[in-house]
Amino acid sequence: MDRIELVIGDITMLHVDAIVNAANRTLLGGGGVDGAIHRAAGTSLLEECRGLGGCPTGEARITKGYHLPAKYVIHTVGPVWHGGNQNEPALLRACYLSSLRLAEEKRLQTIAFPAISTGVYGYPKEKAAQVAVQAVKEFFEAHTEPEKVIFVCYDEDNVQIYSSYLD
Ligand code: ADP
Repeated sequence: MDRIELVIGDITMLHVDAIVNAANRTLLGGGGVDGAIHRAAGTSLLEECRGLGGCPTGEARITKGYHLPAKYVIHTVGPVWHGGNQNEPALLRACYLSSLRLAEEKRLQTIAFPAISTGVYGYPKEKAAQVAVQAVKEFFEAHTEPEKVIFVCYDEDNVQIYSSYLD
């Protein structure tokens, strides 16, 4: 449990090995946390992303962090919420697991996640937090790296929600 931390605020400010971006399938930037990450990282991030050729929902890709304090950005594409019967929970879970696998491969020790899919993509926050916490806990049971995961809560209601699942 000491491998999971909750932080309130802006993910682009964190000095960690990797921050996770809630990207879209083009990986060419967007609104919300994606826009904030690209603004803070600078245009070199977009250039590197152009070379990746997109990313399917549930998968993840890694780039450098450029002007961010974080060394790397792991871009993952969350599912759009369509009511819950279109494989949304499995796809959201896959986002967390594929991001963690990439971090492990690169021997990254600290990785920060936003609440993937809970903004424009409309995934209910309670349900998304449950998937996020469970995926990370299960990964930790079988892997020693990364050492630490930080859940970044940008909205006040997510602070309450994550706290309740982590207790
Ligand atoms: P999605 O398209 O996956 O729903 P959004 O960026 O719209 O992605 O929202 C995902 C979550 O990220 C939301 O909970 C939103 O409040 C949060 N968020 C937005 N900006 C930031 C930021 N700078 N740092 C951390 N979280 C953020």
